[in-house]
Amino acid sequence: HTMTDNILEQQIEYYRARANEYDEWFYRKGRYDRSAQNNQRWFDEVAVIKNTLHQIGVVDDILELASGTGIWTEELLSIGKKITAIDASEEVIAINRSKLNSPSVEYHLIDLFSWEPDTEYDLVFFAFWLSHVPPKLLDSFLTKVYQSVRISGQVFIIDSRFEPTSTANNHILEDEGNIYKTRKLNDGQEFKIVKIFYQPDELQDKLKITGFQAEVKVTDNYFIYAHGRKV
Ligand code: SAM
Repeated sequence: HTMTDNILEQQIEYYRARANEYDEWFYRKGRYDRSAQNNQRWFDEVAVIKNTLHQIGVVDDILELASGTGIWTEELLSIGKKITAIDASEEVIAINRSKLNSPSVEYHLIDLFSWEPDTEYDLVFFAFWLSHVPPKLLDSFLTKVYQSVRISGQVFIIDSRFEPTSTANNHILEDEGNIYKTRKLNDGQEFKIVKIFYQPDELQDKLKITGFQAEVKVTDNYFIYAHGRKV
């Protein structure tokens, strides 16, 4: 049982405990509410990504990994005829299910670090998940993603952009010690999680090595996103 195993378990516990307050972060509520200008930037940049995502058009089958409370599952509903949503927290799955209330979404409670893909999809999507994959497990995770995409199918990834003010987190191959961050719930309870900010060129390389043809972009301040194809 390694340090990383322990953190990956805490990471699941964190999102289970945070389920009810998770959306405050994305919708800039409560302690995530910044200046009107910053909030506006955030939502403008979200809109840029949503526009790119919707350019995919309509596909049959989507796999969403770490689907969370449904912020992106809702977007995917207008792209895919059927969505398979995987997450390791039953609490966030319950919120996702009750928000969307859609017969087109099938939920699975699965730990992605023991996940064994057995189906191919037209599109595999994950938002704000890649930054929680420890560098040592990144290659095997991306290989599983690749195995889940049918030939000429697509992958779409969204995550937080590396914070330009911090220098410690800007490389995949860094000290194990620097990949862990402490996160607090509204009630002050603390958890340790993995948080890595990938650079566009690193992510581009990783996707290429995995076998995808991909383009990685950033928005002005907050997000990194990648759109790839299995050729
Ligand atoms: N994709 C959603 C979104 O963008 O709103 C949720 C992103 S949230 C930052 C990370 C998600 O990963 C949480 O829903 C959490 O429950 C899930 N998660 C954490 N560890 C996991 C694991 N080992 N396997 C599957 N899901 C996990």
